[in-house]
Amino acid sequence: MKDYNLMLDVKQIRQQFPIYDHNPKLVYLDTAASSLKPKNVIDVVDHYYSKLGVNVHRGVYGLSYEATDLYEAARTTVARFLNAKFEEIVFTRGTTASLNLVASSYQKQLKPGDEIITSELEHHSSVLPWMQVAKNTGATLVYVPLNSEGRITVEAFKSVLTDNTKVVALTYVSNVMGYITPIKEIIDLAHQKSAIVVVDAAQAAPHMKIDVTALNADFLAFSGHKILGPTGIGVLYGKKHLLNKMEPTEFGGDMVDQVELSGATWKDTPYRFEAGTPIISGAIGLGRAIEFIESIGFDEIHAHVHALHQYTLEKLKSVEGITVYNPTSETGIITFNVDYVHPHDAASIFDQNQVCLRAGHHCAQLITKWLKQLATLRATFYIYNDYEDADRFVESVKEAVRFFK
Ligand code: PLP
Repeated sequence: MKDYNLMLDVKQIRQQFPIYDHNPKLVYLDTAASSLKPKNVIDVVDHYYSKLGVNVHRGVYGLSYEATDLYEAARTTVARFLNAKFEEIVFTRGTTASLNLVASSYQKQLKPGDEIITSELEHHSSVLPWMQVAKNTGATLVYVPLNSEGRITVEAFKSVLTDNTKVVALTYVSNVMGYITPIKEIIDLAHQKSAIVVVDAAQAAPHMKIDVTALNADFLAFSGHKILGPTGIGVLYGKKHLLNKMEPTEFGGDMVDQVELSGATWKDTPYRFEAGTPIISGAIGLGRAIEFIESIGFDEIHAHVHALHQYTLEKLKSVEGITVYNPTSETGIITFNVDYVHPHDAASIFDQNQVCLRAGHHCAQLITKWLKQLATLRATFYIYNDYEDADRFVESVKEAVRFFK
């Protein structure tokens, strides 16, 4: 089983990630928190700061035109990536900022008695903004009951969907369980009730082709840093007519059309939501990261991650004294605990072995509580991982079990 059937040439891929030059023994299994960054993304960010470094949309000189062209070309790349229109792509600070933007702005359209459907699987950034909206507006937050595995099913969604449902805010892929939500079916059902659907695609974007037009999603968010791009940049996709109906949440330069003593009018989307100097280098880096991922291909990424996941689960089966909470995860996330050991204690063993993984509640306390845990350990695979990483991970798990016995 080992080494000959991995889909991707990991040696060749790692040559494009400078971090491995500095840490040749690194076993990086924390991509769900943040991915590593390839050289061509670092280079394009460096190019912007070294050769341009100026503002966009404002300067009437060559350098500024060039920076503007690169910034807007990145928007075109994101639009193509999601099969969206150029003006439907808003650059933000990340998924958290995108989801907060929708909630803060859309709440003006809600009233007491309206219902917002969400779930216990959500990352805090997908549930807390709507908790606040419910508090502000008198709307009610309704949770889709999870099935025995902790999944959102279409049947369970139907059981909470009513004529009062106005917003559905759900994760596409859970950052704790790695499950894929049947989001297309959910969107179709929600639309039958004229509700809008806000999709948290932070964990989906690195793993699967997302076509917002085919999904018919109303809003969808993801972060650059989880898909090989820079930190500090993210995307909010929104249908043009919905975005243009929404009030901006930040006010300042570049988002305004006319300013009079009596008031102001806003530009159309996306600029009405990009007040102030935008995240220029981040957007340019994100565009390059998307091109990098596309050059590898989602089928290949999925097959690679799936092989590593299956291989690791098979090996973990023979390790006594651990619990894996999500053996059927579709996206290579392994969430587990060493029985009776706090994950932060167990994590110290992994750290000693240069195996980077996550310990905690992963900004998703509701699902951690649903699992009846205070915290868990989480390992995630991506394109730069190989069987040796999986072996060193499993050896560290065994060591942690032995150490804390
Ligand atoms: N949603 C999910 C499913 C996530 O995994 C994360 C990050 O871990 C977020 C939202 C928030 O992303 P960011 O911290 O980049 O805003």
